[in-house]
Amino acid sequence: MSDPIKKVGFVGMGIMGVPMARNLMKAGFEVTVYNRTASKCKELVDEGAGQAATPAEAAAKSDATITIVSDTPDVEEVILGEKGIIQSARKGSIVIDMSTISPKATKKMASALKEEGIGMLDAPVSGGDIGAINGTLTIMVGGETSDYERAVPLFEAMGKTVTHVGPSGSGQSTKLCNQCLVAINLVAVCEALLLAKKSGLDLQKSFRVLTGGAANSFQLEKLGPRIAEGDHVPGFMIKLLQKDLRLVVEAAAEGELPIPATVFAQQMFSAVAAEGGGELGTQGVIRAFEKLANFRIHGE
Ligand code: NAP
Repeated sequence: MSDPIKKVGFVGMGIMGVPMARNLMKAGFEVTVYNRTASKCKELVDEGAGQAATPAEAAAKSDATITIVSDTPDVEEVILGEKGIIQSARKGSIVIDMSTISPKATKKMASALKEEGIGMLDAPVSGGDIGAINGTLTIMVGGETSDYERAVPLFEAMGKTVTHVGPSGSGQSTKLCNQCLVAINLVAVCEALLLAKKSGLDLQKSFRVLTGGAANSFQLEKLGPRIAEGDHVPGFMIKLLQKDLRLVVEAAAEGELPIPATVFAQQMFSAVAAEGGGELGTQGVIRAFEKLANFRIHGE
């Protein structure tokens, strides 16, 4: 039986990483943070976290090292690179990747780590910046049961719904299904809200009705009000959702599975990104619908 995890390395101080690491600290874990842009560690260092100069240094001090960075090559760099976790993580320790990346690349990294006696879980999350701040993320975990069981206290500090979905890569495959739903749902919210506005409805009353009935969703409830107010500040950036939808399309193509609704949604996000909106929040996809309609939901 392995010792419980007490010391946690945390790589990636982005929109998600900062509040997730903070919740680990609040739960009593000893956290050492690393970020490529070192200045973004300051907030948590001021609150008592240790700071590492490289991912390898964060891992050397830790029983488990969490990564939450942007895309597949970035995770490969912080895990397998010259200054990566693999260079110094202890045998018997665990790497937990909570980014959204390729399931195939995940399995390869898990094999490389296993050869060094290091476990790996893929544990992508859903619930957005709000879920990260409130510690209510949904966490879907792929990997070996023994590693999963050791990591449960960490997941419980960051999330509310934690599920071991299967072997390595299964967490990422589950997350891709999640992203199909997120993308299609959000474009549906855009169409419905534009229709409500065009029909001269009071949007506040529309929200009350639509969130109270069978049409409710996280996208409607959390992003609908931001769309109505013209607030496109990112909780989750369009460029990151584009990365996820690329992974969804690749996975569907491998299985010869048609996914026309996801591809339609993908094109709408691409239209906003093509006009320089990649760093807007995903709710900024409304701009593509507004352009098609020659009608704006906010400021008309
Ligand atoms: P973000 O705010 O853009 O943060 C990205 C982080 O990754 C930054 O700390 C960045 O470092 C680091 N990074 C990127 N490339 C790197 C590299 N090559 N080497 C080292 N560090 C690197 O993104 P986020 O919203 O936190 O998202 C992070 C991951 O979580 C993504 O995979 C995303 O799809 C997933 N996710 C996000 C949400 C959400 O609502 N935001 C929800 C679920 C899942 P620098 O500061 O130096 O740039």
